[in-house]
Amino acid sequence: MFESLQDRLGSILNGLTGRGALSEADVSAALREVRRALLEADVALDVVRSFTEKVREKAVGAEILKSIKPGQMVVKIVHDELVDMLGSEGVTIDLNAPAPVVIMMVGLQGSGKTTTTGKIANRMKTRDKKKVLMASLDTRRPAAQEQLRQLGVQTGVDTLPIIAGQSPTDIAARAVQAAKLGGHDIVILDTAGRTHIDEPLMIEMAEIKRKSNPHEILLVADALTGQDAVNLARNFDERVGITGLVLTRMDGDGRGGAALSMRAVTGKPIKLIGVGEKMGELEEFHPRRVADRILG
Ligand code: GDP
Repeated sequence: MFESLQDRLGSILNGLTGRGALSEADVSAALREVRRALLEADVALDVVRSFTEKVREKAVGAEILKSIKPGQMVVKIVHDELVDMLGSEGVTIDLNAPAPVVIMMVGLQGSGKTTTTGKIANRMKTRDKKKVLMASLDTRRPAAQEQLRQLGVQTGVDTLPIIAGQSPTDIAARAVQAAKLGGHDIVILDTAGRTHIDEPLMIEMAEIKRKSNPHEILLVADALTGQDAVNLARNFDERVGITGLVLTRMDGDGRGGAALSMRAVTGKPIKLIGVGEKMGELEEFHPRRVADRILG
């Protein structure tokens, strides 16, 4: 669909072979293409700016090697910097806390929060042999509560029985209590989303956090989120304090620039990715693969 960055940079830089070092002007021309590639991959504008500045510092004055074309050289600098910014491989959910370990899932409506709650519970049950309890805190949408209950039936994971009229914080406290009594290792709280970030949502999330003392707070976000990614991640991180990110719909056509945007503004690790609608479609995050994809 897009011309690869390698091809674009090749046509700008490869004539420089054998000419010493990359000049400021060569690098500026190359960075215009890098910027375009990142914007096409849906990386947020602020992040594109700070990223290209880092690449500029590394590229200006870099020796042009005989063994590799200047275009490839810049692509390698960009790729390495992307991998660096995307963060380490294999950082996953931390269960190192007294049972029941509470995991709080946060995010906007439709981001894939309930599905991801089911996927994580399913993985911990089948792979890690943990006893898991899931609880829906979405008191405004009975359909969301029913969706989680059905995922529980499908995966064989316990769900907290619904009691009409309870507030989200009451449900959170009840879930932790039920897990203690039931001998569960892990409680996953599927909080309510909204279509956009608003003050009541943030207040509700902060209250649930206070009541349930989660060990992990995972922001679930659609990998296809474009320029909003920065706002979304910053708000949830500043107001609630997230410990990690889960990106859903990485199976889609998007180039996954949101991964870079959200990681850059929060500094929090991307712990897992969703790659489909089914319960097994949850994977570890591999920064190199995402960097390749962003560069196209
Ligand atoms: P919630 O409102 O945040 O709880 O979102 P849901 O869990 O209900 O998910 C919304 C839709 O996205 C559902 O149709 C899910 O099947 C779908 N979905 C969730 N995660 C993924 C994913 O990783 N890939 C794809 N293709 N679809 C997903």
